[in-house]
Amino acid sequence: MLSGAVAHVEGSAAPGAFVRVRAAEGDVLGYGHYAPQSSLRVRMLAFGKEPVDERALVRERLRAAFALRRGAEARALLGATDAVRLVNAEGDGLPGLAVDRYGDVAVAKVTSAGMARLRDDVALALREDAGVAHALERRDALAARREGVDSDDRTWFGAPPSRAEIRERERRYTVDLREGQKTGFYLDQRDARDAVEALARGRRVLDLFSYTGGFAVAALRGGAERVVAVDSSEPALALARENAERNGDAARVAFERADAFEWVRSARERFDLLVVDPPPLARAQRDVARATRAYKDAALHALRCADPGALALFFGCSHHVGPELFRKVLFGASLDARRPLAVLRELGAPPDHPVSLDHPEGRYLTGLLVRVGGRP
Ligand code: SAH
Repeated sequence: MLSGAVAHVEGSAAPGAFVRVRAAEGDVLGYGHYAPQSSLRVRMLAFGKEPVDERALVRERLRAAFALRRGAEARALLGATDAVRLVNAEGDGLPGLAVDRYGDVAVAKVTSAGMARLRDDVALALREDAGVAHALERRDALAARREGVDSDDRTWFGAPPSRAEIRERERRYTVDLREGQKTGFYLDQRDARDAVEALARGRRVLDLFSYTGGFAVAALRGGAERVVAVDSSEPALALARENAERNGDAARVAFERADAFEWVRSARERFDLLVVDPPPLARAQRDVARATRAYKDAALHALRCADPGALALFFGCSHHVGPELFRKVLFGASLDARRPLAVLRELGAPPDHPVSLDHPEGRYLTGLLVRVGGRP
């Protein structure tokens, strides 16, 4: 419920309080977590006028979320992996909470005051219902700054290690649970990693914005002839190097620490499988124009390095740049580079990242696998 839709607040609700929402006519619309500093003034947990027991509801939602990631259905939907997103905020009816599972360790991000108040309940459910041995919370700077959520690095239970070893299909990765980006790994790119592995044989692969080498490792496993991984973060590249070493002939992978926008602009090497996966360039609506210019620039120069008949995967991970705009930006890059693009497949977050139809903003990742026409 957006701030503009709230006419007044009865009584004195504290940040994170479980509140009842009424329509102007007086009917109860539902219940949610109050967030006075947020433009999302109430994060809805339940619709309708039936009174609800907040803690029972949250426990039930957590159990349902865990059940979705377990058993035959999960295996069919997610494939073989021991690293999954256990809770995907609104997509699991639990706004303000994301939890990723890496083996027997859970890493949580708490981004609303309401969920911060229910931390102990979430921890208990992770231990009792999900059977996790260790759990920690990672600070979310945005939630702390924008909404005053008391978000911090904390151990919830067990003795969480600083690194986890995960296995996704045959790919093995080390995840930095304490210092890594997000909760340590981009679980949302699992399907795209599968695509890269399946396509990599004999190819020269560019992994632009590689982070810890999620795609570079997939390419190596898939039999790439050579891989170049570019990122500006030294710790990310150090881990990418370790990850490559665990998955094959790491001598085939070159690691470049650089500003990827500048690197790709002056690149002379040619590639026939390219991955462009920048960080969220538009965190707010006002950033969209600048973000799309930056994005187009990276895509344009990547296309200039593409061999005839190359394949490329382009990703955007901001819901402010939706699929339509994303296609337009790529089209612009394609015209400027004189490299026609044909979309072969759309890619997005896998089913452990469900999106609720009443919360379309939950769909943030847009990906396109394209065939690159023309010649450099
Ligand atoms: N492809 C990665 C995820 C990329 S996240 C994966 O699948 O795991 C975005 C990455 O871009 C981060 O690792 C961040 O360090 C890097 N980054 C951000 N700005 C950058 C820049 N200007 N140049 C190069 N890398 C940058």
